[in-house]
Amino acid sequence: MKKLSLIVPCYNEQEALPLFYAEAAKVVQSMPCDYEFIFVNDGSKDETLPLLRQMAERDAHVTYLSFSRNFGKEAAMYAGFCNARGDYIAVMDADMQDPPALLPRMFELLESREYDSVATRRVSRTGESPVRSWFAKRFYQLINRISDADIVDGARDFRLMRREMVDSIVAMSEYNRFSKGIFGWVGFRTCWLPYENVERVAGESKWSFWKLFKYAMDGIVNFSLVPLSVASWGGILMTFAAFLILLVIIIRRLAFGDAVAGWASTICVIIFIGGVQLFCLGIMGQYIAKTYLETKRRPHCIIAETNREGVKKIL
Ligand code: UDP
Ligand code: MG
Repeated sequence: MKKLSLIVPCYNEQEALPLFYAEAAKVVQSMPCDYEFIFVNDGSKDETLPLLRQMAERDAHVTYLSFSRNFGKEAAMYAGFCNARGDYIAVMDADMQDPPALLPRMFELLESREYDSVATRRVSRTGESPVRSWFAKRFYQLINRISDADIVDGARDFRLMRREMVDSIVAMSEYNRFSKGIFGWVGFRTCWLPYENVERVAGESKWSFWKLFKYAMDGIVNFSLVPLSVASWGGILMTFAAFLILLVIIIRRLAFGDAVAGWASTICVIIFIGGVQLFCLGIMGQYIAKTYLETKRRPHCIIAETNREGVKKIL
């Protein structure tokens, strides 16, 4: 019998967690497979951890990994992947925005052997602010144009994958993780299931607009080198423009002979070029910072408490 691993990152999910657990357990019990839950407590400050301890005591299918602080959803997913024992592995949010009811269909699709992973994509963004949706749309357009990881608009992290695919994701042990890019980068045959957006059952979204914006920037820097070449192309363009301006100045000098006029325009040009240079330096800085963090080889996360024996505590 196949085994299913459900990885659930939880950060301050005391309200949503019991609802999710009840619903998801009901669904997997009705499926023709064995299962395990891996809850990753990402440094919650509420009652999430005691709740997980209780659940683990009552249900042998429950494993929890509790981080020493908040390391972020990416780290939580990585820890889950490293510890999952199933043949099929899924990541799900604790807030029921990833409907457990889709699991049986996803399971069947993998069983048919035609696909290696079944991913979900929301076709609507109801309940989300229009500003956020607009920026999200632009982000997907941009990143698909400038990187070779193919990232689908509205794609969720919710997907069911075969062991082989998860092994290759774990092998990508980079420190700066952007899962939507990693899933696309490793390839494999993926089937997309569209569904209508569901609003979170309880609690609040952990993503502020600013946090999402930074996450989007990370995604671009992690999966594309195009911003770097903006600097070189900008430089070439600028040099060409400067050459043209020089020509104009020389001709004007020869024809009219005005020597001191044009002070204001000179300052404008200097400030403009200074700005462009700073902008390009900033882009370089982004990449150097990533390289710096990557070369430090810091662990992704530290597991402070778990109910499973033999778990590697520092990943
Ligand atoms: N999450 C996490 N660590 C964080 C932020 C979020 O583990 O630092 C988890 C959270 O508990 C939830 C999932 O990631 O299970 C998605 O978060 P959320 O629902 O807040 O994001 P949204 O659905 O609004 O994008
Ligand atoms: Mg959510």
